[in-house]
Amino acid sequence: MKNILSLPTPCYVIDEKSLIHNLEILQYVEQETGCHVLLAQKAFSTYHTYPLISKYISGTTASGLFEAKLAHEEMPDKQIHVYSPAFTDNDFDELLTMCDHIVFNSFSQWKHFRKKALQHPEIEFGLRINPEYSEIETDIYNPCFTNSRLGITLANFEENELEGISGLHFHTMCEQGSDTLQRTLEIVEQRFGKYFRKMKWINFGGGHHVTRPDYDVEKLINCINNIKNKYSVQVYIEPGEAVALNAGWLVTSVLDIIKNNMDIAIVDTSAACHMPDVLEMPYRPMIIGSKEKNVLPYTYRLGAPTCLAGDVIGDYSFDKPLNIGDKLIFTDMAIYSMVKNNTFNGMPLPSIYLLKSNGETQLLKKFDYSDFKRRL
Ligand SMILES: *Cc1c(COP(=O)(O)O)cnc(C)c1O
Repeated sequence: MKNILSLPTPCYVIDEKSLIHNLEILQYVEQETGCHVLLAQKAFSTYHTYPLISKYISGTTASGLFEAKLAHEEMPDKQIHVYSPAFTDNDFDELLTMCDHIVFNSFSQWKHFRKKALQHPEIEFGLRINPEYSEIETDIYNPCFTNSRLGITLANFEENELEGISGLHFHTMCEQGSDTLQRTLEIVEQRFGKYFRKMKWINFGGGHHVTRPDYDVEKLINCINNIKNKYSVQVYIEPGEAVALNAGWLVTSVLDIIKNNMDIAIVDTSAACHMPDVLEMPYRPMIIGSKEKNVLPYTYRLGAPTCLAGDVIGDYSFDKPLNIGDKLIFTDMAIYSMVKNNTFNGMPLPSIYLLKSNGETQLLKKFDYSDFKRRL
């Protein structure tokens, strides 16, 4: 941690050791099942680590043209998959030059692009189905909530339009265990199982928290092998979070300490700008050496140097009083952070460092005023 505390703040630090630990687990899943694991770049696309990632898993998936291009440039020797709720004509032409799998969200998109698609026998085309079953309780993250646009429901499934389609894709999970997958697969099979036999592959989407310490990896392996053997299909999973779970920190400095009924520390990072899921999810990120409020003797509310009243990261207690200049380390900050951050309020973007397995830190990216100005 000493290395990290000497870095200029704010900064994200990717922990190579933890990344490798996660990748070893995902590689084990591939080895035990013959399935393919793809990095969902939406969660983590700090491409400097792609050469490392590519040593362990089969490739990447993209949410659209830009992520696919990034994979094409930075992990070109591995599989590139793409799914989007709707492709534009221009994007589709370019995707045809770089993707191995293209997944459509509707039969109308499939029919619109089918003629072009079928001129590319080297590419496999799939459809995202919506099994109308998800255990996610937050609507904003639930692809199966009422009137969802994501995936084709059974009522809208046009079984006579499957020529040229080689796979089905579902994505209905978020930070969940393999028990959820098992229950989901039962429903998916009940509703769409009759089409599985016509397919070469089934993609189980993301949301599998495979690298969380209490995740039942053996159950995942059973689920995959079961579908694979029963229907003679290849299985894909495309976790985002699980690849870089607990594999990064956000380091911040205390800028000021003030009082309004309670002690408030203003830090040089922002929930709204640097860890938007804190407000969107919402959740309370962990800080090394801290506990819930009022557990240790000194409690502070941590807030950002922005004008947004609600840009509060949370309340934390410490065993010593905080001082101006102190550094704090937020954990699990590799995922959905660098990919989602922004310069609202003219906030600077945190630099990105890699903490290598040998203990050295390497600066990957540094940002400045021009990054703010260029986008406006
Ligand atoms: C978000 C998403 C993923 C990755 O989800 P994680 O929760 O990060 O594992 C995979 N596939 C699709 C289609 C997604 O939308």
